[in-house]
Amino acid sequence: MAEKWVYFFGGGKAQGSAKMKELLGGKGANLAEMTNLGIPVPPGFTIATKVCEVYYKSGGKWPKGLAEEVDRNTAQLERAMGAKLGDTKKPLLVSVRSGAAVSMPGMMNTVLNLGLNDDVIDGIIEKTNNPRFAYDIYRRFIDMFGGVVMGCDHEYFEKVINAAKKKAKVSLDNELSAEQLKEVVEKYKAVYKRHVGRLFPQDGRVQLTHAINAVIRSWMGDRAVTYRRLNNITGLLGTAVNVQAMVFGNMGPDCGTGVCFTRNPSTGKKEFYGEFLMNAQGEDVVAGIRTPIELKKLSKVMPKAYKQLTSLMSKLERHYKDMQDMEFTIQEKILYILQTRTGKRTIFAAIKMAVDMAREKLITQKEAVMRIDTEQFPQLFASIFDAKDIDNVEKEGQLLTKGLNASPGAACGIIVLNAKEAERLATKKMQAILVRIETSPEDIGGMDAAVGILTARGGMTSHAAVVARGMGTPCVAGANDIHINYSKSQFTVTGRTFKAGDWIAIDGFTGKVYGTKIETKPSEIIQVLDGKMARSKSKLFQNYQQVLVWADKFRTLGVQTNADTPGDAKRARDFGAEGIGLCRTEHMFFKGERIWPVRQMILAAGDYTRMLNEIDAAQTKKDKKAIEKKYGAVRKQFEGALKKLLPYQRGDFEGIFKAMAGLPVTIRLLDPPLHEFLPQDRWTQTETARWLGVKPAVVKAMVEQLHEFNPMLGHRGCRLAVTYPAIYRMQARAIIEAALNVKRAGKIVLPEIMIPLVGAVSELKHVKDQIVDEINTVFKERKAKIKYLIGTMIEVPRAALTADEIAAEAQFFSFGTNDLTQMTMGFSRDDAGSFLGEYVSKGIYSADPFSKLDQTGVGKLVEMGTKLGRKTRPNLKVGICGEHGGDPDSIDFCHRVGMDYVSCSPFRVPIARLAAAQAAVANG
Ligand code: PEP
Ligand code: MG
Repeated sequence: MAEKWVYFFGGGKAQGSAKMKELLGGKGANLAEMTNLGIPVPPGFTIATKVCEVYYKSGGKWPKGLAEEVDRNTAQLERAMGAKLGDTKKPLLVSVRSGAAVSMPGMMNTVLNLGLNDDVIDGIIEKTNNPRFAYDIYRRFIDMFGGVVMGCDHEYFEKVINAAKKKAKVSLDNELSAEQLKEVVEKYKAVYKRHVGRLFPQDGRVQLTHAINAVIRSWMGDRAVTYRRLNNITGLLGTAVNVQAMVFGNMGPDCGTGVCFTRNPSTGKKEFYGEFLMNAQGEDVVAGIRTPIELKKLSKVMPKAYKQLTSLMSKLERHYKDMQDMEFTIQEKILYILQTRTGKRTIFAAIKMAVDMAREKLITQKEAVMRIDTEQFPQLFASIFDAKDIDNVEKEGQLLTKGLNASPGAACGIIVLNAKEAERLATKKMQAILVRIETSPEDIGGMDAAVGILTARGGMTSHAAVVARGMGTPCVAGANDIHINYSKSQFTVTGRTFKAGDWIAIDGFTGKVYGTKIETKPSEIIQVLDGKMARSKSKLFQNYQQVLVWADKFRTLGVQTNADTPGDAKRARDFGAEGIGLCRTEHMFFKGERIWPVRQMILAAGDYTRMLNEIDAAQTKKDKKAIEKKYGAVRKQFEGALKKLLPYQRGDFEGIFKAMAGLPVTIRLLDPPLHEFLPQDRWTQTETARWLGVKPAVVKAMVEQLHEFNPMLGHRGCRLAVTYPAIYRMQARAIIEAALNVKRAGKIVLPEIMIPLVGAVSELKHVKDQIVDEINTVFKERKAKIKYLIGTMIEVPRAALTADEIAAEAQFFSFGTNDLTQMTMGFSRDDAGSFLGEYVSKGIYSADPFSKLDQTGVGKLVEMGTKLGRKTRPNLKVGICGEHGGDPDSIDFCHRVGMDYVSCSPFRVPIARLAAAQAAVANG
């Protein structure tokens, strides 16, 4: 049988269903589903996403049979509507819209009012007795078709309509009369001919073919490609194309159009929410051209339609078991639903809705956990303003205006009035608030770069609002009092002028805009965790807690943290960490005064090792004595430095053991190459020399001696312990002494000593033997013992390949996937930033492998290492402590390979708990 490319919906029956999102796109699948549910949906047909795939593969050709199917479905649509494309008496007008399997709002092309031509327009005037309406839709169509389909700049059309408004002395498009619009239509056609080089096409079929191609081509347009990149959308076939009979919200005073949500997408509150415009077409609401009216007011304007709409909203939410974002049009008092989709929401709304819906038994607890987007989750911890600061600045008269609270969060930055400038400032690490009359998809890069977005026009569903909510960027939209003058790079508001570069602050929770700098402060959740707000006062915290309690019930992976200080350890514990998976001891070496003994130790380390080697080789006691004498000063210097460091380290570990009492603490012994601790500039070298009592030349010489061409592959990790065993011995002593001290104080301590950068079992054994020897000495001295583990990081590919051998000496494995990625892929962790971006944008790699684990490559080593390790030691504890331990996709992978835990930075612990639960639920 020939392949089916087109799916019809209409008359209460559809060939598709909600299950066919991959093939029909989200919009097409839902139109089909709604039709089958008996919802009043204008009929139409969906051209499947696989057409888009074939189109690109074949260099812009339609697949065989598509043209015939489009013709057949158009004829069926004509029959369903009792109208015909191009018929002057009963003309059929259609919309042509994009719709991929994943919603990409506003990123692809749409053509409305298709089917209009010079003859059809007369028929429409006759039918509606509304010439104003007819010319309005015709001029919109020429503009849209010219711009979207033929690539003629929208600005040329804008110039014409602006001139017409000026001439008519009116400010809004809808104030132009029928006669004036008729003139605009003629001028638009002239613009079209001038820029496209042909007459405006009069044949509906020709218009349709062009429009279908334009929608398909917009799949690879800059906006869509950028959006997919920013949102990590990959693996889709392409966009579907929905051709649907037009209904008109702009036919007269008993018409209207709007967008509605079954719950509030900002707060999650259970209320009918949305906005509409009377006598307008859908794009007017979305594009922010007129500021729309709150949905509730529709109950006064058209009570019957409102009642029907709210009942359909409830029906669709119950059917889809999720908040719906719907588009509707009322034509001559009759309600039509044009679209429904699962609504995008802020994380605040997502958390509330998930908890509420589970409690309403609309969804299960598992579904509630699956509903939370881990990408959005960090926004829960986004900054807010302090209420006192707000009081003060308001008293000072700095509240400029109030717009719509379009996307939550507080932001403060300097004003920029164009998106490119916002991008430029972000590269300079400057915080900018992007201020625009309204935003358009071209601004996406700047919107991403800005810390906040402020628009003068547009509603809660305007482009700025939708995109900002998706990005988690605070946004105030539709602040009508703000008058922007782009050419002067400034705006005025209530008599004050602000220029690009001036500071402003916006509050996306309240919609308020302030003309001054205001410090931001921690989110409500952080305040509760820090004891600065009562739990009972924060509904947000309670809902957040509830979601994580459910998540903990479902996850099987443990979640630990990477923390080096008692403060970080406590923060992570508050976030729910079940232990420390990586404590990087080198960070402690930089704290305060202790860098000096570290440098003192490094300066003497080479000679000290030489001394030990010579003593080892000495034949007689006398020889030994002579060597010891020769190196007396070196020994004093080296061992003296370690003696100074020991109490520091012991104190650090005691602090961490106390903060994590009862939970495992994995301490990694020194890892970085020693040169990282030495001063590189002349001034600090001189200062160090003075402190150490040596000549600056000595320090400089040591810096040169320790220089490596490739330090990441150089003298670091356990290689340091092979040459300078005393360092790891000191650290092992500090760990065990600290553990014994804390245990004596009555707390449970579970120390795990981790040896980094191991590549061979012999290497691990060599280093481990010395550590065990030192620990046994401590036990003897203290006449006390404590249980501890010794394990290793798997960071060198050879370690993963020989994990069965390594496991004989290691009680646990922790995959250091930062180094493992670096060494497996051959990308320098420090230098890859300069080219990896291109690898991702060109699709060579689907993501930066340092952020998302390269599952097929590096992941293979992880899987193999885990299996081999457990073959030798079935109860081997296995975890991950590279950056990937906080990335949801990588966590899913860790779950699948059967790890015991993931470890990530404290702020990612809640995300890891959620992602681990989602992995457990998703993988069954
Ligand atoms: C790693 O390599 O993954 C790791 C956690 O260690 P570091 O980042 O300190 O090299
Ligand atoms: Mg490492």
